[in-house]
Amino acid sequence: MDIHEYQAKEILAGFGVPVPRGGLAYSPEQAGYRARELGGQAWVVKAQIHSGGRGAAGGVKLCKSEDEVRTYAGTLFGKNLVTKQTDAAGKGVYRVWVEGASDIRQELYLGFVMDRTSERIMIVASAHGGMEIEDLAQGDPDSLRRMVVDPAVGLADYQARELAFALGLTGGQVAQMVTVLHACYRAYRDLDAMMVEINPLVITGTGDLVALDAKMSFDTNALYKHPQIAALRDPSQEDPREATAADNGLAYVGLDGDIGCIINGAGLAMATMDMIKLSGGEPANFLDIGGGASPERVCQAFRTVLTDKNVSVILVNIFAGINRCDWIANGVVQAYREVGLTLPVVVRLAGTNVKEGQEIIRNSGLPILAADTLAEAAQAAVAARPTAAAA
Ligand code: ADP
Ligand code: MG
Repeated sequence: MDIHEYQAKEILAGFGVPVPRGGLAYSPEQAGYRARELGGQAWVVKAQIHSGGRGAAGGVKLCKSEDEVRTYAGTLFGKNLVTKQTDAAGKGVYRVWVEGASDIRQELYLGFVMDRTSERIMIVASAHGGMEIEDLAQGDPDSLRRMVVDPAVGLADYQARELAFALGLTGGQVAQMVTVLHACYRAYRDLDAMMVEINPLVITGTGDLVALDAKMSFDTNALYKHPQIAALRDPSQEDPREATAADNGLAYVGLDGDIGCIINGAGLAMATMDMIKLSGGEPANFLDIGGGASPERVCQAFRTVLTDKNVSVILVNIFAGINRCDWIANGVVQAYREVGLTLPVVVRLAGTNVKEGQEIIRNSGLPILAADTLAEAAQAAVAARPTAAAA
């Protein structure tokens, strides 16, 4: 789960990371008021969306007057900001962060990630921050410093100092960097984060370190331990289709095609999507109903798929091991009745209780297209699309 920059800054500040003073605004007027409240001569207005790359996309601006703050905030609210990290639809701006402008002498990069090879938290840092880590890794890989933390020992002071020196820091900056590193590490560990990124961490005109940007994401499976973090979820930043599915315990990923898929098991879902593409179609989603799916769950899967208005046909592909084909079939029939389904549905069942399942489908009298193999099912779904009929 991702959170906003201002939320990450507040959390990290609580652990000891220095951040600029700022305030949140839900309207242009409030943004102007925040600037006045903060005082000073210059402010940075920042769109709060769950994405980086806002600066390059026009979502971060230095403003020199309260009027400018208000006007610029006015151009952001309600707009969908498209960055290098979002899809073409972008993410809606409903909150804006106003903070005092920092006098930047140097921008550093600092990131904490889970390194799957060593199964440990890894710190990645560079003296050349500001740009995104992907660009850094491509354009300036030699500047990247990596350090793995032993979980039994935690981040050691000597490691933190070593990293500070490797970044070229001197004097009091070394001690400040050690504080920042310990703070980020503790926040990461204590809150079950998956990622903590400060980019840029800047050296100001007075030689101090300040986090001008902050990004945190959290392990969804650990959120039950941290209700205060779970409360930071912002559904406006999520794909509404995926959000509803997650609420119902379904693994759902929205895609751009028009063939809705209801499948059990991620591997089978991948194979089905490949087969749809091979047959000349495009999947509208990836939906895994998992094992032991009750008719109610299948019905819920239909509801979820139907929230996507691009869907013109639904393909149900079940290889029942733990699942039972008769339950799935009952779910399909129930979905027809309860959801008032009008779209063509192709069903391919295999495995446990397949005969019973097929019988339920046959006896339902519903216009369900049955298929025996995955290839047939994919072809039938592609052929059943209204666009296929028109062509
Ligand atoms: P993003 O990573 O989404 O582009 P950032 O918060 O990193 O957004 O902002 C982009 C750039 O804007 C930073 O690299 C920095 O140069 C500048 N910037 C951000 N906040 C401030 C600030 N408070 N004062 C001065 N410059 C800032
Ligand atoms: Mg940034």
